[in-house]
Amino acid sequence: EDRLTAPERQEEDTGENALRPQTLDDFTGQRSLRENLKVFVAAARGRDEAMDHVLFHGPPGLGKTTLAQIVARELGVGFRATSGPVLQRAGDLAAILTNLQPRDVLFVDEIHRLQPAIEETLYPAMEDFQLDLIIGEGPAARTVRIDLPPFTLVGATTRSGLLTQPLRDRFGIPLRLVFYTPDELLQIVARGARKLGFSLTEDGAREIATRSRGTPRIAGRLLRRVRDFAAVAGRPADRALADDALARLEVDRMGLDAMDRRYLRRIAEHHNGGPVGIETLAAALSESRDTLEEVIEPYLIQEGLVLRTPRGRVLGEPGWRHLNMAPPAAAGL
Ligand code: ADP
Repeated sequence: EDRLTAPERQEEDTGENALRPQTLDDFTGQRSLRENLKVFVAAARGRDEAMDHVLFHGPPGLGKTTLAQIVARELGVGFRATSGPVLQRAGDLAAILTNLQPRDVLFVDEIHRLQPAIEETLYPAMEDFQLDLIIGEGPAARTVRIDLPPFTLVGATTRSGLLTQPLRDRFGIPLRLVFYTPDELLQIVARGARKLGFSLTEDGAREIATRSRGTPRIAGRLLRRVRDFAAVAGRPADRALADDALARLEVDRMGLDAMDRRYLRRIAEHHNGGPVGIETLAAALSESRDTLEEVIEPYLIQEGLVLRTPRGRVLGEPGWRHLNMAPPAAAGL
């Protein structure tokens, strides 16, 4: 089932579009990344050329898709979107590429999940705006080379480590997104409440912000839930109401949910605080290793609750504190 604090996109997130910032100036946080993008956008516009290819990497829900749309809008060009798992055959990619208008942005989400054959088709497309198509089969097969309109590929990935070197090398502009600070999330939440037209006090907004795991997507989701609780209660959403709503949704003080706590408790109770290998944890929790590494761990690691060591995961001191447990003396914490 869907977790309220899972940072990946879910069915209910269609409501997200209403909250998407539309310009770089409207976009909160990721300051240095935004400053850089502004320069590249202005330079490309000044030269009347397609902007260089951009790779956004970072955990889910931090704004990669939003930024890709903003880049297209600020360049004044069209926006097409697809994703690594959706592109099954080289022909699918060829159809998209040959239909682009000059300087358009093509957004490829989860680009680390491209099929190898499609990735190879992309190399000359990105480098020389050319497409090599194989026509026919067997001995009669031949290759035709097609010129493409110049375009900007914007790739997004949660796992830049899984990208092949040749693909990575073809992105002139690699940009990393980082978790948002509580103050940035506070601004995002307050702005979201205004857009949704509901009354949320500043400390109510702060309560949501500090429990959003540094992730705007989660902030938006919690905001919509708190709004529901406020509507039913028939009073403005203040801190007490937000706290009550989030507690009932089992989102704790740090924004961790039942799955996060299960993960932490597993290391504490079954492995004495670790180290424990990721595969062992994945099996014990019935989660895929990828989900642990891409979705659950990044925030826990950033907050020091968990440490990634060569011998496996280790519970950090804040992790023990969060569980209200004392580390074993031997762990030396
Ligand atoms: P990603 O592609 O990295 O998974 P998205 O771009 O889809 O993330 O963003 C998820 C949600 O969070 C969207 O609804 C978007 O409106 C919101 N969001 C992301 N970044 C920001 C931001 N800096 N300010 C306000 N809202 C944001």
